[in-house]
Amino acid sequence: MKYKVNKEKCIGCGSCASICPFGAIKIGADGKAEIDKSKCNNCGKCKEVCPVGAIEEEEEDGNQNA
Ligand code: SF4
Ligand code: SF4
Repeated sequence: MKYKVNKEKCIGCGSCASICPFGAIKIGADGKAEIDKSKCNNCGKCKEVCPVGAIEEEEEDGNQNA
């Protein structure tokens, strides 16, 4: 499973970036979280901690529009 940030929902709290064991999340210039897929290990911790449910599962179909 891959994860992506729904920027419509993200409030930029930074909880996901803090919890990510692989340093794959940063808060971007738009104040929203961004997942670096080259670092992400798909552990799902970010999804667990997000208070607004902004981290969503993404199908692995090559359509990466995150
Ligand atoms: S799934 Fe795990 S490794 Fe990937 S961004 Fe979320 S916390 Fe980090
Ligand atoms: S935990 Fe959720 S709301 Fe907070 S920065 Fe991450 S994606 Fe955005």
